[in-house]
Amino acid sequence: MSNRFNRRRFLQTTAAAGLTAAAAPAIPRTPRRPVVIASANGLTSTNAEGVSCIEAAFVKITEGADVLDALIAGVNIVELDPNDASVGYGGLPDADGVVTLDSCCMHGPKRRAGGVACLKGVRTPSLVAQAVADITDHHLLVDEGAQRFARNMGFEIEDDLNTDRSRALWLEWKRRTDPEHFPDPESRAEAGYRVGLQMVAEGKIDPEHYYGTINCSGVNASGDVCGVTTTSGLAWKIPGRVGDSPILGAGLYVDNDVGAAGSTGRGEANLYSLASFLTVENLRQGMHPKDAGMAALQRIRSYTVDARLLNEAGEPAFNVNFYVLAKDGAHAGVAFYGGEGRNYAVCDNNGPRHEPIEGLLGND
Ligand code: ASP
Repeated sequence: MSNRFNRRRFLQTTAAAGLTAAAAPAIPRTPRRPVVIASANGLTSTNAEGVSCIEAAFVKITEGADVLDALIAGVNIVELDPNDASVGYGGLPDADGVVTLDSCCMHGPKRRAGGVACLKGVRTPSLVAQAVADITDHHLLVDEGAQRFARNMGFEIEDDLNTDRSRALWLEWKRRTDPEHFPDPESRAEAGYRVGLQMVAEGKIDPEHYYGTINCSGVNASGDVCGVTTTSGLAWKIPGRVGDSPILGAGLYVDNDVGAAGSTGRGEANLYSLASFLTVENLRQGMHPKDAGMAALQRIRSYTVDARLLNEAGEPAFNVNFYVLAKDGAHAGVAFYGGEGRNYAVCDNNGPRHEPIEGLLGND
């Protein structure tokens, strides 16, 4: 009785507010086949047996594992890979030389999500994010609280997640930015950014690892969609900086009715428009993953007005990538700039491969 009353009142309230009319209908999409997609390092980074993230996740999904468990087992490979300087162990540290990690995950069918930000000392932040989703009533734990939670959950806490390589690169950056003179914070940040780009141009840092992350999404044959994003964030960031990766709707969004979207690249640009959420909403309107992601990029482009962020053509001087997976298995990788070496990773019944990322503004 009281349920019926509440429901009627809810319908009256939402109709009066125009909410029922505004809500877009969910597009029923029929899953065709299991698919896993990821940023390019989902295929290039491998474990000691030579298995990549997308292969490990795809095999587990086809064996009937929970989709999120499978994806997280996949990204753990990248997090633990000392050669991937953008994720987990060996990720490039902040300006003080400390590796801090961000991650979030979403379970489509369970409508559950969790994240950690600025987590220190745990090689696999995605597993801690999953524990936040599974064990707590919260969505996001940060810094010391996140570390204390991880310790309580039995995760090993290490003093330092740098590898010799990430520490050497940090030392080089520190030397070049001449911290002794400590100019005002703005020009210090600008100098740091310039030197970082110089090191990329000189081939010292892989451009994909200055900003660098793994996002990985998957769908099984029943249409269960999940996703995870994990990163060490922006290299040499101001300590305490958190990017888009652990923020639901920015670094990742999953809606089991329609699909998933996740992002890598300049997190600050993505955060301003919560473009993963926007991309999933575009899927809900019936757009193909490519169009859904391109429309979100258009939004970011229109919000990019600050002169320091524009190139000579008046277009964004940075890249943001979206990896988009619809519930029916259709997928796309899009970015402001595509071109040589800009790929995303896909694994389905046709095997693991890289497919080209399409550029909204062409190739760079
Ligand atoms: N989006 C991440 C961040 O801004 C970094 C990246 O994807 O490269 O922290």
